[in-house]
Amino acid sequence: MTFAALTRLQQGLAALKDDHLERHRRILDGAQGAHATIDGQRVISFCSNDYLGLAADPALRDAAHAALDQCGVGAGAAHLITGHHRFHDDFEAAFARFVGKPAALLFSSGYMANLGVLTTLLAKKGEVFADKLNHASLVDAAQLSGASFTRYRHNDLAQLEGQLAASAALGKLIASDLVFSMDGDVAPVDALLDLAERYDAWLYLDDAHGFGVLNDGRGGLTERARASDRVIYLATLGKAAGVAGAAVAAHASVIDWLIQKARPYIYTTASPPLLAACLLESLRQIEAGGTRRAQLQRLIVQLRAGLAGLKRGTLMASDTPIQPLLIGANADAVALSLALLQRDLLVPAIRTPTVSANTARLRITLSAAHSADDVAQLIQALHALD
Ligand SMILES: *Cc1c(COP(=O)(O)O)cnc(C)c1O
Repeated sequence: MTFAALTRLQQGLAALKDDHLERHRRILDGAQGAHATIDGQRVISFCSNDYLGLAADPALRDAAHAALDQCGVGAGAAHLITGHHRFHDDFEAAFARFVGKPAALLFSSGYMANLGVLTTLLAKKGEVFADKLNHASLVDAAQLSGASFTRYRHNDLAQLEGQLAASAALGKLIASDLVFSMDGDVAPVDALLDLAERYDAWLYLDDAHGFGVLNDGRGGLTERARASDRVIYLATLGKAAGVAGAAVAAHASVIDWLIQKARPYIYTTASPPLLAACLLESLRQIEAGGTRRAQLQRLIVQLRAGLAGLKRGTLMASDTPIQPLLIGANADAVALSLALLQRDLLVPAIRTPTVSANTARLRITLSAAHSADDVAQLIQALHALD
C-alpha cells in the first residue's frame, strides 16, 4: 500500500542518496574503546569521545554490577514522583563540589539539559546570543525557547557586544560551547563573562568536551567563572565521563527553578539509578585521573608533531583531544577517510553541512586509552597517503 505522504518521504530519502548526504549507522560489537570492532572490522578508532578511556573501565563495570544488584535496572518514575534515587542525589552533590558550584541537577542527556535550561530561563521577551559554531542541541534549545535568537560569528566578541548593546530584551543569555565540538578550540570564558556582567546577562557554557579533560578534569571554567553566580555550567557525562547523562551546575536558586519548571527534567522517567552509581565512580576516576590526562597530553603533542608538514591537510589550532585535520573538499575528506579505513584506522570525515563549505575535515579524537604506537600508526598512514 502506498499513499502520497509515504511517497514524498521516499522521494526525500532518494534525494539525500543522490546528493551523497545519506547517513549510515556503523555497528559496534563489544566494548567502546581505542581498539574496537566496528562493522565487523577490528580497527584503531579515532572517533569516540571517550577521552579518558572510562567507557569500558573495570572500576565502572564493577560499580554497575554492584548497583545492579542493589537497585535493579529501571528508575520506574520521574524524579518528582519516586524516581529520584539516592545515587542521583549523591552524584549531584559530588559533581557540584567537584566543579566548584553551589548546586547541580542531573539530566538524562546533554540534549535534554540544553533544552531544559534555555526553555526555562528565558521568557518569550528574552534573547539568546549564541556563537555560530555552537552544538546543534544548543541551537534547537534556543529556537524552542521562543526567545529571540541572535547569532554572532565564532568567538567574535566585538560583534557580540554590539548585539548585546542593541538589545532591549527582558532577560539575556549568552550561550556558547566551551570546547567547540568540530574545531577543538576553547571559548574565551573570562571575556564572555565580562560582557555578561556589563550587559546583565546569564552566561551558559556547554562543556561537553572539556569536562574530565581540562583543569585536572574540573572542566574549562576559569576560577572567576566558577565563582560567578551568573555562570551556568553544563557537563555532558557520556563523553570523558564514559557513562551517560548531563549535569547542570549553578547557583542554588537556578537549580531550584529548573526543578520547578524545566519540562525536559520533569516530564521524563529518571535515568536508571545504576548509571548514577557509575557516574559517582567515574567522578572518582576523573579526580584521580592525572595519569590518564598526562597520557592524553603526550598523545596530542605526538600527533601534532607527527602531522606537521602534511600536504593534503592541516591540523587546526587545538590543544584539546579534538584534533581536526582540515582537508577542504567533501570528496577529498571522504576519500582519505576510506583509505585510512583500508588500513584499519577509523577516522570520520566531517562534511558540509555539518561544517561550512570547503572546510571538510577528518575529525581525529584522541583517548588516554590510545598507545603511542596507535598514534604512530595513524601518523605513518597519513604520510604514506600524502
Ligand atoms: C555531545 C554534545 C551534546 C549532547 O550531549 P548528549 O549527552 O550526547 O545528549 C551537547 N553539547 C555538545 C557541545 C556536545 O558535544
